[in-house]
Amino acid sequence: MKINSAEIVISAAKPNQFPAGPFPEVALSGRSNVGKSSFINTVLARKNLARTSQRPGKTQTLNFYFINERFHFVDVPGYGYAKVSKREREAWGKVMETYFQEREQLKGVLQLIDIRHQPTADDVMMYDWLKYHHHKVLIIATKADKIPRGKWDKHVKQLKEYLQLDKDDNVVVFSSETGHGKDAAWREIGNLLFD
Ligand code: GDP
Repeated sequence: MKINSAEIVISAAKPNQFPAGPFPEVALSGRSNVGKSSFINTVLARKNLARTSQRPGKTQTLNFYFINERFHFVDVPGYGYAKVSKREREAWGKVMETYFQEREQLKGVLQLIDIRHQPTADDVMMYDWLKYHHHKVLIIATKADKIPRGKWDKHVKQLKEYLQLDKDDNVVVFSSETGHGKDAAWREIGNLLFD
């Protein structure tokens, strides 16, 4: 996909800040450090739009990017942080619940998982929760350049088994280092957004 424009429209801390309007969107979710910011920057061909290696414990927001004036990417904070108080965590949990349960513009969720490792318990929980809410999920298997190409299939097969991936959900092997998987990711994202 040719990216003509990509800009952050809002970092939303609560539901009344989510952008109104008819534009479809995909959310991006994953454990912190999985390569989510790098993925966003790579597929949007922008160097620093999503900052890489964001500081743990910072204010949690859903970051909405408006792309080609047609759709949104919604960057969901990386899970696996524990550096906020219980009260903050609960408040944020409610915002996330509202988002994933009620957001009509949401057409699918990209869940990023490091291709090298077995999905974590948090990854499995997130996937199960998304399926419980009937979301379509596209798995992005990140950092593919870190293992030999000959091992990709085996790792993807294990990932599918471990998550008990729904047959309708696909996996894209991706590297922000080499750009591998960029076209495949856009095909799948296009299907989620516009089918
Ligand atoms: P985030 O916390 O999920 O947003 O992760 P980042 O995008 O900040 O990436 C975390 C670290 O992994 C950074 O040091 C990145 O340079 C590195 N990284 C991200 N994607 C890749 C990749 O595809 N290949 C390699 N080799 N490193 C990556």
